[in-house]
Amino acid sequence: MRIAILKERHAGETRVAATPDTVKKFVGAGHTVAIEKSAGLTASVTDDAYAAAGAEMGTLAATLKGADALFSVQMPDEATLAKLPKGILLVAHLDPHNAGPRAEALAKAGIDALAMEFVPRISRAQAMDALSSQSNLAGYRAIIEAAYIYGRAFPMMMTAAGTVAPAKAFIMGAGVAGLQAIATARRLGAVVSATDVRPASKEQVASLGAKFVAVEDEEFKQAETAGGYAKQMSPEYQAKQAELVAGHIAKQDIVVTTALIPGRPAPKLITKAMVETMKPGSVIIDLAAPNGGNCELTKADEVVTHNGVMIAGFSNLPGRLAADSSALYAKNLANLLPLLVGEDGAKAPHWDDEIIQGMALTKGGEVVHPSLVKESA
Ligand code: NAD
Repeated sequence: MRIAILKERHAGETRVAATPDTVKKFVGAGHTVAIEKSAGLTASVTDDAYAAAGAEMGTLAATLKGADALFSVQMPDEATLAKLPKGILLVAHLDPHNAGPRAEALAKAGIDALAMEFVPRISRAQAMDALSSQSNLAGYRAIIEAAYIYGRAFPMMMTAAGTVAPAKAFIMGAGVAGLQAIATARRLGAVVSATDVRPASKEQVASLGAKFVAVEDEEFKQAETAGGYAKQMSPEYQAKQAELVAGHIAKQDIVVTTALIPGRPAPKLITKAMVETMKPGSVIIDLAAPNGGNCELTKADEVVTHNGVMIAGFSNLPGRLAADSSALYAKNLANLLPLLVGEDGAKAPHWDDEIIQGMALTKGGEVVHPSLVKESA
């Protein structure tokens, strides 16, 4: 199979879909890898490093010529999509929950599209799960950004000149990103608490040495879907949660919000009034910024200051440690590759495999994902 890797054109995207390691692996297995020149520079990978691993380096047109598959971090832009060879297999983050019209366009263009966000959460697919690999790094980076913005120290320090109190950090949403944020904040010496609506998270939070704070009623006991995600909570639950959070948040220095419900706008967990109870100098890092934010005051890609509280809405935290996030993402793709080829190494996606079925948005000129077919019907 001829695999193309392009320079990402999405604003602010620094990641790349291959590393010299994965190129070497693909080439060793008999595939050809074509990479657009300078595709890896923002992730600290030089053209020479790719070439040494066996990649063909070229222009956009040369890279796409005869390509069987395009591995990408984000959905390519319109101009690039127009240049893709008919029948190419596109594997990327495709924002599938909002992909209705785009999926139609991809199908029309004869592009077979697999969405990395839809890798099913089954154990066989864990090594291909890009949402997890990227969320983990986002959770880590959220705390590093918070520590940078915060005008005080995280750990308690007893010095001859006086004692520095430890920072109090509160993590809202204890999924993959939230758990890594808890662990990172603890490593830096903060006193950490966390909340979530899924009961399974309670034990995980405690095992990381953080205090669990949540409304644990009957609805909480049923809040996890079979896929392991959170359900949308009722207005009554949200009101109880808001009351609990309001009391807790006023005492926090650092708040990291990661709460998401797949396919829906992020739940609003922090109101303007709650922000106004926080101390000046406190920091909120809102990982849900690309989905509308968990805080009412969040603005995507900005650090807003309200009454001295700084609210950061970085929309691409994995992109702020592009070398590591690219390496893990490229590895996710390499782990997926056996499901995209036949025994002879030629392109032959295993359309009947549960993983490929879960990911496939379009195939052979048709929109095939059940969620999108339902939408357009
Ligand atoms: P996510 O990014 O969809 O959401 C982040 C967190 O926000 C979740 O823990 C969710 O419960 C929480 N949340 C949603 N609404 C909330 C609210 N109103 N208040 C507070 N918290 C709220 O989730 P995720 O991080 O991708 O992972 C969710 C679960 O799936 C985790 O338990 C994770 O361990 C599990 N998981 C399983 C696999 C696998 O089995 N292969 C892989 C990855 C993750």
